[in-house]
Amino acid sequence: MSEATRTSVTLPGFLGLPMFQPGWVWLVGAGPGDPALLTLGAAHALASANVVVYDALVDERILALAGPDAQLEYAGKRGGRPSPKQADITLRIIDLARQGKRVLRLKGGDPFVFGRGGEEGLALVEAGIPFRVIPGVTAGIGGSAYAGIPVTHRDTNHVVSFITGHDTTGGVTGNIEWEALAKGSPVIVLYMGLKHLGEIATRLMAGGRDPDEPVAVIARATTPAQRVLETTIRRAEADVAASGIEAPAIVVMGPVVRLRAALDWLGALDGRTLTADPLGTRHGQKKTGS
Ligand code: SAH
Repeated sequence: MSEATRTSVTLPGFLGLPMFQPGWVWLVGAGPGDPALLTLGAAHALASANVVVYDALVDERILALAGPDAQLEYAGKRGGRPSPKQADITLRIIDLARQGKRVLRLKGGDPFVFGRGGEEGLALVEAGIPFRVIPGVTAGIGGSAYAGIPVTHRDTNHVVSFITGHDTTGGVTGNIEWEALAKGSPVIVLYMGLKHLGEIATRLMAGGRDPDEPVAVIARATTPAQRVLETTIRRAEADVAASGIEAPAIVVMGPVVRLRAALDWLGALDGRTLTADPLGTRHGQKKTGS
């Protein structure tokens, strides 16, 4: 690729994008998959980086936006597979920055949402490395939207919780007050949740959730391989097993899932007929909220 082609990828200065300085690390979110969800800042960072240290969940079409001379380094961490230790990744990033490289640390979704971006930032501060954070579209929000599910809706919920299905022990997340969550958050978006889905469902039902509450499991959201399974809290584990749906997936629980019947815009592109008013709130019933 010629230099001219390359600079045409870099977004022009009038947008106010900062220069990527040598010796800096940029912690950047790549979004959930679809390159259309990349921020201008992320595209600019890709075009200017000397090294891109990327995670397993970063889409190939996004990596293809890196400049022709950029070095691409895989630092994938994926449950169940051997992967570099977090400390090694952090040391590598610090080392590259000390070599005077423009280091792009590219993470799936948003770097500060269940992405260890905070940990890497802390290590950079400790090492005295200058850094910048470019947020990304997180899978729980962008992925839900691609399934036709808004994470908040005035008629259904004023609260949404984003939770992770397992903690550092690999077991179901210990420090969540499941009963309080079940009672206090009408909509729950679960990341990394397939492994412990049955146990999480049990805890939520024990906390008072309706076993027939709608659930959507959205795998490989926003990519061409996106799959959506609609089920209920009670049936979720068995239905996931029967469907063969696999990680990475997010699980959305709560009444907003019903809106999919109306808002599955992606399905509509494939011929799905959308149902107006899936909540039955348009006539008669008084709307809540202001
Ligand atoms: N920082 C990321 C989350 C990393 S944790 C973000 O903000 O999105 C990894 C988990 O994110 C996966 O186990 C899965 O639950 C979710 N995830 C990431 N990309 C996804 C995608 N394209 N489709 C569905 N879930 C995804």
